Amino acid sequence: MSQRIGVVGSNMVDLISYIDRMPRAGETLAAPSFSMGHGGKGANQAVAAAKLGAEVLMVSRVGEDLFGEGTLRNLGELGIDTRHVRTVPGQQSGVAPIFVEPSGENRILIIKGANEHLLPADVDEAAADLRQCGLILLQLEVPLETVYHTIAWAAREGIEVLLNPAPAVPDLDVSRILAASFLVPNQTELAILTGMPADTPEQAEAAARSLVTRGLKTVIVTLGAEGALLVSDGPAVHVPSLRVQPHDTTGAGDAFIGAFAQHYVRSRDVAAAMAWGASYAADAITRPGTQKAFADLTAFRRFRE
Ligand code: ATP
Repeated sequence: MSQRIGVVGSNMVDLISYIDRMPRAGETLAAPSFSMGHGGKGANQAVAAAKLGAEVLMVSRVGEDLFGEGTLRNLGELGIDTRHVRTVPGQQSGVAPIFVEPSGENRILIIKGANEHLLPADVDEAAADLRQCGLILLQLEVPLETVYHTIAWAAREGIEVLLNPAPAVPDLDVSRILAASFLVPNQTELAILTGMPADTPEQAEAAARSLVTRGLKTVIVTLGAEGALLVSDGPAVHVPSLRVQPHDTTGAGDAFIGAFAQHYVRSRDVAAAMAWGASYAADAITRPGTQKAFADLTAFRRFRE
């Protein structure tokens, strides 16, 4: 089985303004500072896996702008195969303007831009290279039709798919994702997907089991500081988190999934890959930023000692 990972998903540039307060309508305010970071759930998961040494192929779309060039450079520098990260003429790259107040409260806008132009035909165009992958990662920041199409295509090819149903969309058609090997929601996404409460590990297990009853093979629920829960045919398996002092939990789910994927394609051991993913995410949240906070294999091994 191939150890290559395919990611069919989004990339964004986070534009983070640290402000004293939001300006009122018509008002111009100076703000203390600004920072930029590469993000987007697809790119984040690709970067986590690549930093740990996985061979990663990304299928994604950028805009015809400086952000697009920067994204391509960033992914390329991390050794990710970007032959299918293409520029959409006349479109802007996906961006996320984020406003952070001194209290830590943040307001986030997401403008998907070129990510909305990743279409089923683009997946077909990348088929020869995706066929070389042993696992394909999907999230919901690209058109739903592209997600359904990739799952159906991968099922016909016998390639395993992990779907991270994030951000939660109310109109996800569960009947069209049943062929995915893994569904990896957080508690909020699981609750929206099932219409069931998922606040406690017990509730999350019941909600995840309802999806298994509907035909999903394996549901892995990420439970924040509580770790992660594996729900499949047999008894549920709980993988605890490491105790850390969190600094910035943004991207914890992406760190978990990227590291899970990198371990799983080598080991095909779901519980061991979950434990690896959980400790990778725990390490990442001790530092600010998203991709910037993801450790490489050497640093991560040091953290685990
Ligand atoms: P985000 O939306 O912030 O990217 P998420 O909501 O998708 O994250 P979480 O369930 O919060 O995902 O976290 C993913 C994984 O990260 C958890 O399963 C856990 O292993 C680890 N994690 C998250 N928060 C903590 C924490 N406070 N302490 C230790 N580990 C954590």
